[in-house]
Amino acid sequence: MAKHQFQTEVTQLLDLMIHSLYSNKEIFLRELISNSSDALDKLNYLTLTDEKYKKLNYEPRIDISIDKEAKTLTISDTGIGMSDEDLVENLGTIAKSGTKSFIQNLSGDQKKDSNMIGQFGVGFYSAFMVASKIEVTSKKALSDKAYTWISEGAGEYEIIETAKESHGTSIKLYLKDEESEFLEFYRIESIIKKYSNHIPFGIYMDKEETIPAKTDDDGKEIEPAKTEVKNVQINKASALWRMNKSEIKKDEYKDFYKQISHDSTDPILWIHTKAEGTIEYSTLFYIPSTAPMDLFRMDYQPGVKLYVKRVFITDDEKELLPVYLRFVKGIIDAEDLPLNVSREILQQNRILETIKKASVKKILSELKKLQNKDREKYLEFYKVFGRVLKEGLYGDFENRDALLDLVMFKSSKRDGLITLKEYKEAMKDDQKSIYYITGEEEAILRNSPLIEQFKAKDIEVLLLDEDVDSIVMPMVTEYDKTPIKPVNNSDIDDEIKEDKEETKENEDKYKDILEKMKDILKEEAKDVKISSRLSDSPSVLIYDKNDPDFQMQQMLKQMGQDNLPKVKPILEVNPKHEIFEKLLSKSDDELLSDVSFLLMDQARLAEGMKIEDINGFAKRLNKIIAKAL
Ligand code: ADP
Repeated sequence: MAKHQFQTEVTQLLDLMIHSLYSNKEIFLRELISNSSDALDKLNYLTLTDEKYKKLNYEPRIDISIDKEAKTLTISDTGIGMSDEDLVENLGTIAKSGTKSFIQNLSGDQKKDSNMIGQFGVGFYSAFMVASKIEVTSKKALSDKAYTWISEGAGEYEIIETAKESHGTSIKLYLKDEESEFLEFYRIESIIKKYSNHIPFGIYMDKEETIPAKTDDDGKEIEPAKTEVKNVQINKASALWRMNKSEIKKDEYKDFYKQISHDSTDPILWIHTKAEGTIEYSTLFYIPSTAPMDLFRMDYQPGVKLYVKRVFITDDEKELLPVYLRFVKGIIDAEDLPLNVSREILQQNRILETIKKASVKKILSELKKLQNKDREKYLEFYKVFGRVLKEGLYGDFENRDALLDLVMFKSSKRDGLITLKEYKEAMKDDQKSIYYITGEEEAILRNSPLIEQFKAKDIEVLLLDEDVDSIVMPMVTEYDKTPIKPVNNSDIDDEIKEDKEETKENEDKYKDILEKMKDILKEEAKDVKISSRLSDSPSVLIYDKNDPDFQMQQMLKQMGQDNLPKVKPILEVNPKHEIFEKLLSKSDDELLSDVSFLLMDQARLAEGMKIEDINGFAKRLNKIIAKAL
């Protein structure tokens, strides 16, 4: 007998389960059945593809039995089973890094919030919501040893060697006194029908049936009434995605989603396709309404499972959909693939490539339909997954137009989010481009000196405040034949210049000062120029059209590129600001130097950057304040 300690995060999770006031406890059964179904899937695949397993007696089924006297509920399957090491690995630790870090980050208050449980894939451990003790007896296929894992959920578990006739897993729950409802046949039957009707394997239970008394023609009893126990199949066991759309009810779609996703909330949308023709396949995709915890992790769990002719192949293939659709859950079932496709072959398989392409187009077009038909619902989707969807603009050239229709932005002129189409529709006749500004905070963007001129001319500017924007937007140069340009790009000067004559005059007037400033700031700025984009602020920083701007530089740093060459911005100054009128009448080099650095530093602040030489900044500022007083 060996005692083991749970990994810390498991203890925390179990604590959460055991003290949970979560009202939807019945989901534990869905989780256990779903694990059994996965175990059957895995073995099914091996028996079809691996010689060693072909001699195995594979009769896939899930059996559920109730013992009212012992107050136990047992869920058994004839699946792949677990070795003692598997038991430690799978039931003593949390493998999924997303779940792990989620638990680590739960605050005290959140731990008390029972609804937290509904928000992540609780899995096996959810059984501790209803059981005070659990025994998992398992025998791995092709092994002759069986083991029982026993735990009361408090800090530790034991594993002992036992005897078990055939491979598979049997999970016995000792129900808590207050959970006796789960000892009722009809209660269990209804939970199975609700959540697990369409798992592709039969779920069986013993059902007591009353056989009425038999009588002869005169009404005389020849056999008394009796109860008989029959083993019956509870679920339909039909692969939902293979059925005709017209046969499937909304609730069935939703419940199937919950079963495959471990998510308790309803999906926003589902897309069910059956393709017949050169390549035959069925797909059933779901757009969830909540984000999985690993959405922004490199090691995210892909949401789409691959089947070939109803046989489960893998749920760990990230190439089935592009990375920017990693929030999509569902199933691809291909007709014409060999069952034992290797990973390498999968990734360059022409049939899968075709299915993938068609699926992406379909998903994007359904999202567009939703955007047109039900804006509120689309926004609900977009708030959760818009940032991920935007990533597609970076690499998916083929679907860029479709993606550009789907992405939405904040605007300098309107509340809420708008589409590029809406931006275009409101463009002025003489406006040449779609303009945007990127940065970290909406408030900074709204008040940025960079958009003063746009505001003055009543030109709308898109406010892009997500980190992903500065990476993807440089890749996007036009929408529906209209150029898209950042406001801090030197390239757009001509498009927004008020009056070219006036600028020329100012350039002449301030020629000397500009030359001197350029020299003073030679370590900081690439150039010092008269600006045409300012109305209130005295200065602003812009970037040469071939240089990465500040946000882009930040992003590159975050991605680990530390040794970037220093990119110098261009300092633009506002000739209409009184500072410059006044500078003309002074010939004090020290003053000009202080003013130049101060103009540079305040422009940095306005862009959300930091001032590097805070000491120097304070000294110069104080000098000028003292002079003014
Ligand atoms: P999840 O199913 O989301 O991975 P669980 O905590 O429910 O998380 O299960 C952990 C792991 O334990 C599973 O991934 C699987 O490897 C193993 N497992 C659970 N139930 C069974 C079962 N009935 N048969 C075989 N393996 C199982």
